[in-house]
Amino acid sequence: MQTLTFKRGVHPPDGKALTQDKAIKVILPKENSELFFPMSQHIGAPCEPCVQKGDYVKVGQKIGEAKAFICSPIFSSISGEVTDIRPVLTPGGAKSLAVVIKNDGKMTEYEGIKGGDYTQMTNEEIIAAIKNGGVVGLGGAGFPTHVKLAPPPGTKIDYVLVNGAECEPYLTCDYRLMLEQPERLIKGLQIVLKLHPNAKGVIGIEDNKPEAIKLLSEMVKDIPNIEVASLQKKFPQGSEKHLIYAITKREVPSGALPAAVGCIVDNVDTIISIYNAVAEGRPIMRRVVTVTGGAPANPGNYQIRVGMTFSDLMEQIGGFKVEPAKMIAGGPMMGPTMYTLDVATTKTSSALLCLTPAEAYIPPERNCIRCAKCVEHCPMGLQPFMLNQFAIRGDGEAFVANHGLDCIECGSCSYECPAKRQLAQSIRATKKIEAGKKAAAAAAARAKAEAEKKAEEAKK
Ligand code: SF4
Ligand code: SF4
Repeated sequence: MQTLTFKRGVHPPDGKALTQDKAIKVILPKENSELFFPMSQHIGAPCEPCVQKGDYVKVGQKIGEAKAFICSPIFSSISGEVTDIRPVLTPGGAKSLAVVIKNDGKMTEYEGIKGGDYTQMTNEEIIAAIKNGGVVGLGGAGFPTHVKLAPPPGTKIDYVLVNGAECEPYLTCDYRLMLEQPERLIKGLQIVLKLHPNAKGVIGIEDNKPEAIKLLSEMVKDIPNIEVASLQKKFPQGSEKHLIYAITKREVPSGALPAAVGCIVDNVDTIISIYNAVAEGRPIMRRVVTVTGGAPANPGNYQIRVGMTFSDLMEQIGGFKVEPAKMIAGGPMMGPTMYTLDVATTKTSSALLCLTPAEAYIPPERNCIRCAKCVEHCPMGLQPFMLNQFAIRGDGEAFVANHGLDCIECGSCSYECPAKRQLAQSIRATKKIEAGKKAAAAAAARAKAEAEKKAEEAKK
């Protein structure tokens, strides 16, 4: 089998040996513990709570209503009483309004959970089931899947790509899901292919997961519209644009979505969640989290209930053998650092990486030596050392003119930089400011156009 890849990128040590052979273990939240359900667990508008303090809720009952187009509902993962509705900290460091539920330990299921035979369902019914299941991109982005799967009319989809690259070092949750739930993965992909019958389904897996490549290749060998692609182990192979390039050699233009080049990309866990939502009527309530790094006493892959705090999870799996010097929600390249574990897990919590002081050590930042290693390795073809200078000077105009908004925040430049310049960090911060300005300008332009249209109509 040919091994595919993209241009540039980096080869950090993958750290997966710590957990790759650890089968998924189910961890249930403790009776009487409180679980926190932030109303913002996705890209787009936050949900609105549809329960009140004092209400009794069941497993799988909707507690956050999606009122906007780009939004996705939130469901309770336990049964118990709503004890509060208040802002809480999310893994990304922001605060979000959350429904707080005290676990009664009974796990009483909501009566409304009911799936269907997807082969008999219309496309509209499938999309509605995915929407009602609260399915979002579980690889980290959290984009509502029902929106992604229904591109504008006239869009031709040639490929549905399953992102099984899991290129972030240390993470093995998707790998374990591919090994332990392959039937659900294949059926989930068949559901998406039912929506796009002219597309080919390709499951892309990095070649450091030969067991998954072998198992899935064997299982799809008689399915004509599905195949497995072996990808070179390289970061960020799992980035949407780079996965598309590796498999199809198509390039997504700046600012465009994968559908612009006829592709839809969904992560392994997202595809499994599509199956759960459509065939079984089960919304997203569980999540496999890789707990890893040198600090935890028992690294492994744990299936938790969404809403549990990381501190509850650590308490149940034996805590730490070494006091962690750094705690990251996700992988070391792109995950946000957390200063506390009293943070609720969400639909997109893929990992908790806890590093020892030696693992977390980063040498102090020094002057740029103009070696161009950051340029050589940037997967987006940017000039990170220049963007870093624009960020330091606060020159947003030059930052945007030099395509700073195309940065995918992968951290490859910081990883390769011998002077340990904080390239990705400064670029990410400036990108946030400039993207905010761009969005505000677009909103102002829309408001102006609407006001002018109304004024024109009033004249008639
Ligand atoms: S500039 Fe952005 S896209 Fe390029 S390597 Fe750095 S973080 Fe990645
Ligand atoms: S890799 Fe670091 S030292 Fe080299 S050019 Fe880029 S910023 Fe400068």
